Amino acid sequence: MMYISSSSSSSGRTFETRDPRTGDVIASVAEGDKDDVDLAVRAARKAFDHGEWPRISGSERGRILTRFADLVEQHADELAALESLDAGKHPAVTKAVDVGNAAGSLRYFAGAADKIHGETLKMQGQFQGYTLREPLGVAGFIIPWNFPTTMFAIKVAPALAAGCTMVVKPAEQTPLSALYLADLAKKAGIPDGVINVVPGFGPTAGAAIASHMDVDTVSFTGSTEVGRLIMEASARSNLKPVSLELGGKSPLIIFEDADLDMAVELAISANLFNKGEACVAASRVYVQEGIYDQFEKKLAERMKSWVVGDPFNDPRVNQGPQVDKVQYDRVLSYIDQGKREGATVLTGGRPLGQNGYYIEPTVFTNVKEDMTIAKEEIFGPVMCLMKFKTVDEAIERANDTKYGLGAGVVTRDLDVANRVVRSVRAGVVWVNCYFAMGSDVPFGGRKMSGFGKDEGMHALDKFLAVKSVVTPLKGSPWM
Ligand code: NAD
Repeated sequence: MMYISSSSSSSGRTFETRDPRTGDVIASVAEGDKDDVDLAVRAARKAFDHGEWPRISGSERGRILTRFADLVEQHADELAALESLDAGKHPAVTKAVDVGNAAGSLRYFAGAADKIHGETLKMQGQFQGYTLREPLGVAGFIIPWNFPTTMFAIKVAPALAAGCTMVVKPAEQTPLSALYLADLAKKAGIPDGVINVVPGFGPTAGAAIASHMDVDTVSFTGSTEVGRLIMEASARSNLKPVSLELGGKSPLIIFEDADLDMAVELAISANLFNKGEACVAASRVYVQEGIYDQFEKKLAERMKSWVVGDPFNDPRVNQGPQVDKVQYDRVLSYIDQGKREGATVLTGGRPLGQNGYYIEPTVFTNVKEDMTIAKEEIFGPVMCLMKFKTVDEAIERANDTKYGLGAGVVTRDLDVANRVVRSVRAGVVWVNCYFAMGSDVPFGGRKMSGFGKDEGMHALDKFLAVKSVVTPLKGSPWM
């Protein structure tokens, strides 16, 4: 056992983080709570009010962010190992997706750091005006466990570019990569006090960030229930702006002109990528009736070669363990509920192995829209397969959800694709692909999937305050 933390917590308490492949404890981590959040916010405030970070030029901040991106890439192996041990992630996924997105986001916002400028305003009368875009202050980040490295980077990168300082609380299931990344940030030249990581639990450390009077904005990714608490905490404290990236129940609509093999592969990866632990997973798959039977048959056949196991030690593995016992039990209870409510198990449907948190990839057929498995976010390797007849029906059913995070459409007909793209209420729609993301692609939902964007230039705006300045011109009564 080892202790991983740059310092101990105020209370001296620690918590254990476990290897989901076995359930064994791999590390004890300092457990931050309200007092530690207070200390972290004080350090961030001091660095913001008196430190160099908001005051150095944008190009200098950009240079440091680029160095940070380089270090993240140079330590891809270490990050992949940490995420496999702490989150059960496939090392190839961590390297290609988490590390790739993290470095990409840091570079994207490195490039943005020296392009932050206001506008000149031609006012009526004897005045002229301009706007300044100033760093907002101290940002709070509360992040989840499914893409810990990506989440850390895509949250901090725009805030760093803007000149903000920050407090980050990683998920209690996966605190290790955030501590490692903070160390890389320091090596890259980000000054002390700018990034403060407080590992700890949601109702203590997380809630303390959300309700802190000296935190100027909070960006949260996680469940809709906790998103609501974050908003309430803001309303009860200093009315800080919040942005929320929450759950989803995203539809994937496959039309009968689709290439069948491609559509099957797409449905699998849209559901089982990262063991189904993805907010934007397409857990409702609608297949048009003309190809439904063939699709179902091919899918069942293809699932036979899907390998579940230890992703760290076996390169053939497609799917590792769920992140922890809580999620494992949750996913299994959804599977049981699906069976009880009358859906048919096409493949999977059971836990796997004696040790660790492995679950068979599960496909349900005969799913009705009002079943729990079709309505609630399961966040595991569970797909609901449903049949539809017409474009209008598909659109109506796709929108029949409280969520609005992502959607996918598979068709060769441009007109059909355009109709779906324009009618589905979601933050991102993929046409003939899924999960394709990029640093310049705004990501975030609608409805109960939240609001505010990560990635893209919209993300930068969350960390900038617009100040309007007005000056009189010569000849005005004021001069
Ligand atoms: P969660 O929302 O409980 O946790 C996410 C983060 O919020 C963690 O850092 C957690 O410590 C923190 N948190 C928890 N309670 C808090 C509180 N009262 N105040 C402030 N912060 C708090 O999510 P979870 O328990 O890890 O997973 C539950 C469900 O959330 C999942 O099954 C899934 O549906 C959803 N989820 C979504 C995403 C996403 O990317 N949108 C990511 C992870 C989980």
